Amino acid sequence: MSADPQTPDARAVAVLGGGQLGRMFVHAAQVAGLRVTVLEPDAASPAGAAAGQHLTAPYTDAAALDHIAQHCAAVTTEFENVPAAALRQLAAHCAVSPPADAVEVCQHRAREKACFQAAGVPCAPYALIDSPATLATAAAAGLLPGILKTATLGYDGKGQVRVDSAEALAAAWQQLGQAVCVLEKRLPLAHEISVVVARGRDGQTVHLPVQQNLHRDGILAVTQVPAPDVPAATADKAVARARRLADALDYVGVLCVEFFVLADGSLVANEMAPRPHNSGHHSIDACDQSQFDLQLRTLMGWPLTPPRLHSPAVMLNLLGDLWFDGAGASAREPDWPAVLALPGVRLHLYGKAEPRRARKMGHLTVTAATAAQARAVALQAASRLGLPAF
Ligand code: ATP
Ligand code: MG
Repeated sequence: MSADPQTPDARAVAVLGGGQLGRMFVHAAQVAGLRVTVLEPDAASPAGAAAGQHLTAPYTDAAALDHIAQHCAAVTTEFENVPAAALRQLAAHCAVSPPADAVEVCQHRAREKACFQAAGVPCAPYALIDSPATLATAAAAGLLPGILKTATLGYDGKGQVRVDSAEALAAAWQQLGQAVCVLEKRLPLAHEISVVVARGRDGQTVHLPVQQNLHRDGILAVTQVPAPDVPAATADKAVARARRLADALDYVGVLCVEFFVLADGSLVANEMAPRPHNSGHHSIDACDQSQFDLQLRTLMGWPLTPPRLHSPAVMLNLLGDLWFDGAGASAREPDWPAVLALPGVRLHLYGKAEPRRARKMGHLTVTAATAAQARAVALQAASRLGLPAF
């Protein structure tokens, strides 16, 4: 801590949010010799456990924000639902990235889609539903079959209902508590991809190679890099659009944009995250700079150089289901030695207190000399853990 409480310590940074993304940011910052404070209300959080200091308080806690403002030179976030007001308040005292305005856009699906449209980035046809009248109009607007998604607070497919008829849509809106929602047309997806871009204070932007993602039950299951099924022209287009969005938001930090590649080859933006992303985790093991290194560089105003993928990689998400044999069974640790016996496997566990089904507990990254080898080993790892093939 700095001796003078009015002078923040240039080597001290803070992260708002205590999840696994915060934990991996803490690791990257510590490699660079920084001290990290985590603000997270949960006393048993993955990032709090790794950080030098954990302030166990709500994100809007005045004393905690004051402490960070006085002691930390820079503040980032790992969680898009951190109140934008907290970021604004901190921005009066220290460098804050991503900017509060951009985070606010990403917090609300309708604002996010408006941003896509303003930037000339195609997204799925949709309608905002915030009243019985807009519900009726949306049902007649050619958006069915569709997916009803809450406008705020959705993640890992939560707050989403697939609907095939006007009746199902009305029932789904009830089920979601008549929350403000968007109804999106369900599109014929050929593939899902994502792009992690990092934009500096000077507007310079670099990006990770395009990732190809497989979701199961609305949750990311597998990421492959390089993307095996995506033509270079499509990947280039995705990168160009992600950069355009970062520019449009006057973004500073790491931004991940998820895209659908449709059956006809066209590219549609799905959503964006104002932070590192689960689909970028392979970069820790497969790139010369990880997405968390990029987050740190943008936060500190350090130079950005294009990250290089030095190994093809496959990332498998490890959900809490792996800890349970059958319904109602008690939790037990998966057979890690069985997968660690395979070449090129790196196991990441987030230190979460308790395994729960559908909860992200960790991931593993397989790197190899060729994409075919990485995939073959990842398939073996999946099989040894009882995960489906991909
Ligand atoms: P995340 O954890 O990525 O934040 P989320 O809960 O915000 O997820 P989305 O990314 O909106 O959810 O959707 C989850 C998955 O559902 C997508 O990755 C895709 O597989 C499928 N999906 C979403 N929207 C559509 C759509 N319009 N058409 C077809 N499939 C879709
Ligand atoms: Mg998503």
